[in-house]
This record gives sequence, C-alpha cells and structure tokens, in this order.
Amino acid sequence: MRNGFRYQGALQPADPITSHAAQPAVELQHVARRFGAVEALAGVSLNVRRGEFFSLLGPSGCGKTTLLRIIAGLDLPDSGNVRIGGVESLRLPAWKRPVNTVFQSYALFPHLCVSENIAFGLRMKRQAAKDIVRRVAAVMDLTQITSLAGRHPHELSGGQRQRVALARAIVNEPAVLLLDEPLGALDAKLRKELQTELRQLQRRLGTTFIHVTHDQDEAFAISDRVALMHAGRVAQLGTPEDLYEHPKTRFVAEFIGSCNSMEGKFFSRSGALLEVDTPLGRLQVELPSTAIELAERERLHVGIRPERISLEGGSAGDNRFLGKVEAIVSNGPESHIQVRAGQTLLNVVELNSGRRSVGLFVGDSVEVSLPPANLFLMED
Ligand code: ATP
Repeated sequence: MRNGFRYQGALQPADPITSHAAQPAVELQHVARRFGAVEALAGVSLNVRRGEFFSLLGPSGCGKTTLLRIIAGLDLPDSGNVRIGGVESLRLPAWKRPVNTVFQSYALFPHLCVSENIAFGLRMKRQAAKDIVRRVAAVMDLTQITSLAGRHPHELSGGQRQRVALARAIVNEPAVLLLDEPLGALDAKLRKELQTELRQLQRRLGTTFIHVTHDQDEAFAISDRVALMHAGRVAQLGTPEDLYEHPKTRFVAEFIGSCNSMEGKFFSRSGALLEVDTPLGRLQVELPSTAIELAERERLHVGIRPERISLEGGSAGDNRFLGKVEAIVSNGPESHIQVRAGQTLLNVVELNSGRRSVGLFVGDSVEVSLPPANLFLMED
C-alpha cells in the first residue's frame, strides 16, 4: 500500500509518523529555467514535506506553473535538481514519476463516460479488471460522483467535471498530486465549497498535494505551508500564519492582505525591543526571534496590518499619537477608516460589532496606538 491510500471505503488518515517521515516528498535544488529573455525560475530551492498540502502562490508570471511542470516532468530545468520521494527524477519521463497532475482545463476524454474516464489510466497500466472496478468505485465514492458514473463530460457542470478530474488523478495512487489552478474556472461560491472538499480529501488520503494558485485566500484556506513566489524566486515560505504575521519583505506584506508600511531607521535595541525612527516618530517594535536578524539593519520598512491598529487608546507603550479621521467606509461587517497623522495616512480596519467605529466621524481626532508586538520589520 502506498502513501496511506486505502480503498474499499476504509480510507483513514495516513499514519502521522510515516507521512511526516524525514524524507521530503519533493526536493528542489537551485531549479532555474529561462524562456529566451524571460527568467521564469531564478534558482528555486525548497522541500515539500510528505503528506502536506503545499501551495505555490504568486502573481501571474512569477513561475508557479513552470515549477509545477518541472516537478511533473512536463518540462526540464536548465539547471538544478529535482528529487521525488528521495529519487533523482530529472531523467525520469513524466509517466515514470510517482505524480499525477490535475489541470484547470479538466482535460477529460469527451467520448468516455465518468467511470471510463477514471478507469482509463488503470486500463493503460493493464490492471486486473476486478481491481479497476473496485478502485474506480472507491474514488467515485470519495469524490461524491457515484451518481454521475454513466454521464459524459458534456453532461456535467464545471464543479462535477473538476471532481472527475480529481478522481481520475487520485485513482492512480500518486505519491504526489499536482494541482494547477484546479478551481480557477469555477464561480466563487462553488470554488469555496470545493476548497473545503479538496482539503478534506487531502487529509483523508494523506497524499502530498502541491497546488498552484494566484488566489491568496484560497492558498491560506487550504494549505499547511505556502511558498509565495515573485519573479522566479521564492519570496517567503512558511505557514499561512507565518506569512501573514511575519512578512519579511514589503512584497510579501502587500501581496498577503493589506499593510501600512513606512520607512524606518534603526535607533537602538534592547533584547527583542527595538526603537526605530519613522515618519510617525520613534516607534518601539517588539521582534519575534525569527526576525532578529533584521534588527540592526540601518534602513528598514516598518509595517502593521490595518486591523492591528487601535483607535481606542490602550497600552501601546510609547507608540501613541493623535490622528485625524479623513474617511470612513463601512462594508457591513467592518469599517475601513483612514487616519492622518502628520504626512502619514494610516488604513485602519475595525469590526463593526465594536461600539467605537460607529461613533467616529470624518474630521474627528482619535488616539492612535500601534502595539509594539503588532509592528513588524521588512526588507525592501
Ligand atoms: P499564471 O498565474 O499567469 O499562470 P505563472 O506564475 O504560472 O503565471 P509561468 O506560466 O510559470 O507563470 O510563467 C513564468 C514566465 O515564463 C512568464 O513570464 C511566462 O510568460 C514565461 N513562459 C512560461 N512558459 C513559456 C514558454 N513556453 N515560452 C515562453 N515563455 C514562457
């Protein structure tokens, strides 16, 4: 049995010990790829752990699909190395790699019905007919398409087709499932539903999933870890929480959610507490241990998420000053408030369940506080 995939309705989560064994599912070392003048990948190194849901996230053209195609064996890098399950894989053709890919475009065979589409790969591998029937039935059950078994692709909705494409890929029991924007063609509501299903499916199978998307919400909703890519490089790799709470560069902070950022100049440090001069004055910044390496760089950027700014006074050490409300836009659950302090315009978000934002008006003076632990430091 490979990778925890158990059939006959006895699907259980993969054994946490084996699924997180030391050997990564995929190792990429200095993978570089050029297309003429375009540097699609500028030396990407990363490891994907066994049994994790890993997303490659980034803006259009940053190299996500190229990287996925290289893992799949559909393209070759100019240099660098790819190991899958500890095996050097660059010389292996796509069909010999223990991976399967699900594309946005479904790529189903139009003349075959759902169950035949799913069975196709197993037939090609000359599996015993009895096994094929059993395995196809199990994945149709898992992906909730049993009732569609006899339909042809043109008789299915987009969401149903994508389920068939998923079933067709997982029936082969790949060690790694590659997903290239698999939900990209679906409307927002269906997309959200399938995100949840995809996550549950991955948990049940224990298979390593590598998923490409440019949608931050999607990557954060379903991934254990995310590699945010920018211009052919990994800008930052970590859990969704790491990327949100401790972005290392302005690009990361701004791609993931919104961020107030301003230039800063290091002034002093006492343990994890820094003083940084900014256009808002001297601010105290409390650093997590992971960001200590940034501490004494002379030029920095200081950032804070809009919902981490308080307009209710409170204990923010010295990081307190007066501001003036310039605009308020309420979208139901939240109020987006622009507050000017000197030359700096801060974006603040408050939940409308609170009393205070409701009571604010354009032109009001407010006490702004930036709790030191909510500020972070970034490189350019
Ligand atoms: P998207 O989200 O738009 O799919 P992406 O992050 O997946 O983008 P890639 O498709 O990997 O980006 O492309 C990276 C860069 O390489 C882009 O500038 C793209 O135009 C270029 N590129 C990719 N494939 C080729 C090719 N076959 N020939 C020429 N240029 C290519």
